[in-house]
Amino acid sequence: MSDIARIVSCIDGYDPDALHVEKARAAIRACLAPIAVSEPVPLRTALGRVLAEDIVPSIDVPGHDNSAMDGYAVRSADLKSDAECVLEEIGTALAGRVYQGSVGAGQCVRVMTGAVLPAGADTVVVQEIVRIDGKRIAIPPGQRPKQNVRYAGEDLKAGVAVLKAGTLVGPAGLGVISSLGMARISVRRRLRVVFFSTGDELSSVGTPLAQGQVYDSNRYTLRGMLSRLGVELLDFGIVRDDPAELEHALRSASLSADAIVTSGGVSVGEADFVRRLMGELGEVLFWKIAMRPGRPMAFGRIGNAFLFGLPGNPVAVMVTFYQFVREALLVLAGRSGDVAPASFRVPSAAALRKIPGRTEYQRGILFRENGEWKVRATGQQGSGVLRSMAEANCFIVLEHERGAIAAGDPVSVQPFDGLV
Ligand code: AMP
Ligand code: MG
Repeated sequence: MSDIARIVSCIDGYDPDALHVEKARAAIRACLAPIAVSEPVPLRTALGRVLAEDIVPSIDVPGHDNSAMDGYAVRSADLKSDAECVLEEIGTALAGRVYQGSVGAGQCVRVMTGAVLPAGADTVVVQEIVRIDGKRIAIPPGQRPKQNVRYAGEDLKAGVAVLKAGTLVGPAGLGVISSLGMARISVRRRLRVVFFSTGDELSSVGTPLAQGQVYDSNRYTLRGMLSRLGVELLDFGIVRDDPAELEHALRSASLSADAIVTSGGVSVGEADFVRRLMGELGEVLFWKIAMRPGRPMAFGRIGNAFLFGLPGNPVAVMVTFYQFVREALLVLAGRSGDVAPASFRVPSAAALRKIPGRTEYQRGILFRENGEWKVRATGQQGSGVLRSMAEANCFIVLEHERGAIAAGDPVSVQPFDGLV
C-alpha cells in the first residue's frame, strides 16, 4: 500500500464516500510534513514569516531598573507610613541620561519615565502627589516600597527563549525582536503554491465572454486567500478539461511547488479522466465529504507537491479552502500550535434549516444588537452564490450532528477577520 493510503487507513471512521469533516482534517494533517529549509532575512521584511529558530535574548529588556512614571526616586527606608517625609532633591535623571551620583539618606532625584533608577533609590513617587518647596520635596504617607519601578529583565531575560520556532512573526513579534537589537532573523522558506482553474467553460477577465461561458472567478478568490497566508504564488491560469493539458499543468506544477491548489473537475460527473490521470502522476484520494457546500474534494501528492483539488462552485472553493487547505498550508509552512480557525458561540438571530449528518458552513453576518453579538445568515446560500461570501463577515458552522436551529439557539461562528 502506498504512503497516503496507509496513513488514512489508520484513521478511525475513515470513509472516503461520506467523510466527516473532522476525519478529512485528520487525514490531511497526518500526511503533511513541514518544509525544513530556512533563510536569514532582515527584520524589517519579516512580517508574516515563520520563525525557524527560537528567539533567545542575549540581553535583558529593560537593561536596567528604571522608572515607570514621572516623579521622584527615593529610598523606601526614608518613607514613613504614618507621616509626611521631606527629602532634598539633589538632581535629575532623564530617559537616556543617567544620573551619575547616588541617592543618600534624606535625598531624592527627580526622574522621568524610562530613566535609569539612580543608585541608592528603590522606589518612585509620582510627581502629582508631592508638595514642592524649592529643593524640598514633601512626600505623603502610604507609599509602597519599590512602587513604580520597572525591573531589569522583567520583559525579556537574557538566555530565556521568548518566541519559539514555528511562531508567526506579527507586529508584536517585530517589536520584541527589535527590542533585542536583532537586525536579521532566521525564518522558514516561503511556501510555493501553484494554483489554477479547470474548465472548458471558463473565460479570463478582460476578454469577451462567449456564449455559455463564465468568467473564472475562482482564480481570484484563490489568489486573495493564498496571498493572506503569505505564500509565494504561481498562477498557472485556466487549464482546459483535456487530459494532455491537465497532465502538463500538474507535472510542471509538481516540479516547482510545495502545494498545488486547483478548482473544478473533481465532481463525480467530471472526475473520470482527472482521477485516472492524477492516479498515474502521483497518489490522490477522491473524497465525498459530509459537508455543505463543498462535497467533492481531492487530496494527495504528486512528486513533492501536496495536491488540493477543490470543487468548482465558487462558494465551495472558499469553504473548502478555509476549512482544509488554509490549515494544511500553515502546517506545511512550519507553523506550530493550533492553527485552526478561531471559533466562538453566539445566538442565532433567526431559525436556520439544517439536517443532521453533514457539517454546514453558512455565510453569516455578526452584528451587535443592544450591545450583544448575534449572527444572521446572508441571503441565498447556494454554492454558486458568491455574493453570500462577499457580504458575510463570518462562517456559521452547523456541526455534523445538529438538526434545525431555533431563533436564539447558540451557534458556532468563525470570524473572517482577526485583529492582529
Ligand atoms: P465543476 O466542479 O468543474 O463541475 O464546476 C462546478 C460549477 O462551478 C460549474 O457551474 C462551473 O461552471 C463552476 N466553476 C468551475 N470553475 C469555476 C471558476 N474558475 N470560476 C467560476 N465558476 C467556476
Ligand atoms: Mg469543470
